[in-house]
Amino acid sequence: MKQNGAKQFILYSVLLTIGIFIFDLLTPLGIAGGVPYAAVVLISFYLPGQHYTFASGIVGSILTIIGFFLSPPAPSNVELWIVLINRSLALFVIWSGVVFVTKYKQAIEQRRKAEDAFKQANKDLKKYTDELKRSNSELEQFAYVASHDLQEPLRMVSSFTQLLSKRYKDKLDTDANEFISYAVEGANRMQRLINDLLSYSRINTKGRPFEETDCGEILGHVRANLHVAIEKSGALITNDHLPIVMGDASQLMRLFQNLVDNAIKFSDKEAPRIHVSAEAKDNEWVFSVRDNGIGIDPQYHERIFLIFQRLHGKEEYPGTGIGLAICKRIVERHGGKTWVESEPQKGSAFYFTIPIGVHKSDALIAPIIKADYTDY
Ligand code: ADP
Repeated sequence: MKQNGAKQFILYSVLLTIGIFIFDLLTPLGIAGGVPYAAVVLISFYLPGQHYTFASGIVGSILTIIGFFLSPPAPSNVELWIVLINRSLALFVIWSGVVFVTKYKQAIEQRRKAEDAFKQANKDLKKYTDELKRSNSELEQFAYVASHDLQEPLRMVSSFTQLLSKRYKDKLDTDANEFISYAVEGANRMQRLINDLLSYSRINTKGRPFEETDCGEILGHVRANLHVAIEKSGALITNDHLPIVMGDASQLMRLFQNLVDNAIKFSDKEAPRIHVSAEAKDNEWVFSVRDNGIGIDPQYHERIFLIFQRLHGKEEYPGTGIGLAICKRIVERHGGKTWVESEPQKGSAFYFTIPIGVHKSDALIAPIIKADYTDY
């Protein structure tokens, strides 16, 4: 409370106390002469701290007792014990007021402290979120610059090792042939890793605006892109009706393609059977890509979504270990989440969600995709 406001309240309290005291001295009955002091106690609610409340309680009590002696004697038909009881009641009311005001103030103070703590926690949270965002974007920037700037020297290493291999293959001894082929293979692999890292770092920064995108049509493009792998493996890909969502078409294409590609790649002896479906649940589409492949031990269900995490050697199954990390990031950019349900030898089901966007209601039935996939 402002200093001036407090002073005013103190002044009113003093004037009121004097008024009550004068009234008490002029009233012959003295029956409840002290009760109005409780009003002064209540006014102290508007003053800071507890000491004004106690002070007004003490002053009110003293004046009630003095009033007992100084006020005109009670009429002869009123017995003394009634006057005494009334004065005691007045003291009781005054101190009830003191207890009420102090407790109420304590409760308000506790609430204020809790609110302050809550505000501080919110502030800290915002600070940490901002820091996290900043460090994330710095990392993104770093990954982009590193992968972008590494491409040029790597291209040189790659083309010269290939040239070396072409010109000097079989002109040197067998060891040299082997070393050259390792160098070529290493350079190619590094190029793939760097390309993947570059696309990973570009998901948020180079993403396109969201538009109505027909996932059924996307799956069609994925089938076409993967037709060699599909034919080679004898994979059968089936799907339910897939919805139109608001999203970045080329990123959604990458998402579906990575998942279907993995489902074909991580198959066992049987030909891959893959089923893609979508179900509307709580304002979001839950997509799933199921396969009958080698499955994944539950202890690795989270790890596989991290960048460069692979569960197999590259001789067993080729890959760079970034595909699922890219999927996760794309889904996060679309406001969804990703997870897997799987057990070894029992196939896998990869799930991701996309919020149900606002689009023309008939769009669900009539695909109207305009997006182009050339960027993919
Ligand atoms: P990559 O395919 O290049 O290895 P990913 O990030 O796509 O990288 O996958 C990470 C790991 O997750 C894979 O190495 C594999 O062990 C496991 N994995 C992904 N998809 C499947 C799947 N459909 N079935 C079994 N394992 C899978």
